[in-house]
Amino acid sequence: MRFRVSQELGQPVGTEFDLELRQRSLFLDDDVALMDLDGSARLLRTDRGLLTTVRAVAHLESTCSRCLAPMKSIIEIDFEEEFIPVVDPVSGAHITTAETEESFIISPDLMLDLGESLRQYALMSSPSKPLCREGCAGLCPGCGINLNEGHCSCPPQSDYRWGALAALNAKDQEGS
Ligand SMILES: [Zn+2]
Ligand SMILES: [Zn+2]
Repeated sequence: MRFRVSQELGQPVGTEFDLELRQRSLFLDDDVALMDLDGSARLLRTDRGLLTTVRAVAHLESTCSRCLAPMKSIIEIDFEEEFIPVVDPVSGAHITTAETEESFIISPDLMLDLGESLRQYALMSSPSKPLCREGCAGLCPGCGINLNEGHCSCPPQSDYRWGALAALNAKDQEGS
């Protein structure tokens, strides 16, 4: 998600700009897929670059932590980051400071790429144990069938535990 910001960088410090963020699908570096991204970015010209405030919502593609079915979580992506140009927008001279190494950068062709920042903040706001539905029944530990979709003849999970306990008890009694 790249935006040309040569004009914005030419403005005096304190000038603000708004960008609309709207994309049907956005694939970021193999591990984040965002659908129906909708939001906005406010850019504020600072003495170093552009302070970028993003407020967006999106559907994040993931898999259910219980039944492993593909699913989407709605996430909010809100962050504020300063993007610093690696070349001076006026003179074209390269700027190499510790700052450009640590922060998000604006590439030499003066494009601001929100992709990596969106990826990082999407990962941060993604639920750690997403569920495809409330009370997802998960997979049967015995045969692996998806218990949301059907039943199997395996004994309920708790019976395994009781069974193991019963077997232990029986052994104890044999020993005594
Ligand atoms: Zn599930
Ligand atoms: Zn089963």
